[in-house]
Amino acid sequence: MITDSILTCPECGASQQEQMPENTCQFSYRCNACKALVKTKQGECCIYCCYGDYPCPQTQIIGSSCCSPD
Ligand SMILES: [Zn+2]
Ligand SMILES: [Zn+2]
Repeated sequence: MITDSILTCPECGASQQEQMPENTCQFSYRCNACKALVKTKQGECCIYCCYGDYPCPQTQIIGSSCCSPD
């Protein structure tokens, strides 16, 4: 189980490492570089599935998006 993810900010392209919660979905995060509040796109599972280098733990377990049907 991978619980560390590198998020890439869609606004400025900066990367930051974040610890993924194992049983909740996170829908926004604050970019440390440009201070933008990055939100999940419509229909996407969470910020890690959208902007991370690994999908969230829930998705890793069940093998598909945890919050929205494919
Ligand atoms: Zn940024
Ligand atoms: Zn997810």
